[in-house]
Amino acid sequence: MFLKRIELQGFKSFADRTVLQFDQGVTGIVGPNGCGKSNINDAIRWVLGEQSTKSLRSGTAMSDIIFSGSEVRKPVNLASVSLVFDNTQRIFATDFDEVEITRVIRRNRDAQYLINRTPCRLKDVTDLVMDTGLGRDSLSIITQGNISSFADAKPEDRRSLFEEAAGVAKYKKRKKTSLAK
Ligand code: ATP
Ligand code: MG
Repeated sequence: MFLKRIELQGFKSFADRTVLQFDQGVTGIVGPNGCGKSNINDAIRWVLGEQSTKSLRSGTAMSDIIFSGSEVRKPVNLASVSLVFDNTQRIFATDFDEVEITRVIRRNRDAQYLINRTPCRLKDVTDLVMDTGLGRDSLSIITQGNISSFADAKPEDRRSLFEEAAGVAKYKKRKKTSLAK
């Protein structure tokens, strides 16, 4: 499973519809300060259900993530981001080769979520990504702060991160639960 494409429109600095295409393997995003690199990361977490405006580096209202205008552009009223994942290995429990997850927000309205263009609840999105390693508290996104704490961590703590990443942690938890019974 890998992220094939991100489509953004009206999200933070991405006023116009912008499509970013990714291949398998490593992709680097480079550009001058303030060009929108971190906004792409915010967009990914937003689609996956992030509810904290603070961790999205935005204002207090969720609608603050909508493009608020610039010297040359008027503000817009809608933000929409879609993530398109390759699902040929059926990592997502759905029988499609591509999974498209979308979140849309309009000013003064609640957000809407869609899976393969069908409206759904936030819970459907969280359920879909659970166990794929993409979940909110997973290690699929490692922030700058996490990198330094990882580098400074004690070997035992670092090992638990590897166990989490390798998918061993959940089995250890289950073993502990059944031994306790
Ligand atoms: P750096 O290299 O400094 O980390 P970056 O490429 O990560 O920079 P971002 O933090 O992604 O930059 O983008 C910051 C830009 O996004 C700023 O110019 C800011 O004004 C703009 N921005 C953020 N939210 C909005 C919004 N709601 N509407 C319009 N522009 C926004
Ligand atoms: Mg940045």
